[in-house]
Amino acid sequence: MLGEFEIIRRYFANASGDHPQVQLGIGDDCALTTLPPDTQLALSIDTLVEGVHFLPDIAPADLAWRLLGSAVSDLAAMGASPAWITLALTLKDSDSEWLEQFSKGLSEACHQYGVTLIGGDTTSGSINVLSAQVHGFVETGKGLKRSGAQPGDLIFVSGSLGDSRAGLATLKGELDANEYLLTRYLRPTPRVELGVALRDIASAAIDISDGLLADLGHILEQSQMAAELECSQLPISEVLAQSVSKPYADHWALTGGEDFELCFTVPSEMRASVAELAKALSLNLTEIGCIVAGEGVHLTDNGVSIALPETFGFDHFHKQGNP
Ligand code: ADP
Ligand code: MG
Repeated sequence: MLGEFEIIRRYFANASGDHPQVQLGIGDDCALTTLPPDTQLALSIDTLVEGVHFLPDIAPADLAWRLLGSAVSDLAAMGASPAWITLALTLKDSDSEWLEQFSKGLSEACHQYGVTLIGGDTTSGSINVLSAQVHGFVETGKGLKRSGAQPGDLIFVSGSLGDSRAGLATLKGELDANEYLLTRYLRPTPRVELGVALRDIASAAIDISDGLLADLGHILEQSQMAAELECSQLPISEVLAQSVSKPYADHWALTGGEDFELCFTVPSEMRASVAELAKALSLNLTEIGCIVAGEGVHLTDNGVSIALPETFGFDHFHKQGNP
């Protein structure tokens, strides 16, 4: 059985590269870093709990990718560039094969997202619980908040919605196995480049971690606005459309969590800039509605008003059902 310090030394001390702003990384009581001039530090922490966020038999490398993907996605939603992370691990045991695979996935994900692992904590417990705290840089005053949406702003989402929820359904045996959907669930693609580019375009932004309606709801609440959403405009992948009936696809696009796409609002005169950005990033950016004065969401399907789903997305203390 490996001890705590042997685990840190073997699997985490060299799990990622150097960073110019990190003077002292893993191994002391604290890491020491500096900030580039005119920069604010964007901070966020994300936790994955066994049985809640992942099934116990998930491949350890996939777990590392999901952990980093969900954490880095918050930086993307703030328009921040990823810099470094700290990692808190509570593990049932010190299985060297599991740790080897996990740290390999972690190194790859750190490399992909441009973050350096600079510290953490390693403890034992009765279930696996993993927390990653990400730190990123954003030009002072340019962070993309949830509170800036104005009447008349257009609402956009990146990529496609509902795939991750469908990927989870394939793992639970509710849906036939499908490589694309499973990958969308296991290997999130936080939209970092998009977030950074939106700093000068968007009035508000959020990443879709709990479900479009739930997360857009946070923009509306903090901006004290309402939204009109058109269901037929929701970006649903061909694979999802072929895998489930339209009501399921729509439901999962509206309420399925963990797509880690961005939902953002822009003044209407910025429509062309968003189209240019989509082209430059080779990423679908789809207009799904607009911001209006008032409260709540008005949902239409081909122009006809439809009822909102009973639940808007995942909430840890109010577990959701399906259609
Ligand atoms: P302390 O007890 O002073 O908090 P620890 O013994 O917990 O320090 O950790 C020793 C060093 O290893 C620290 O620099 C800490 O940040 C780092 N560390 C511990 N666990 C991890 C981990 N899972 N990933 C990365 N760094 C870690
Ligand atoms: Mg400690």
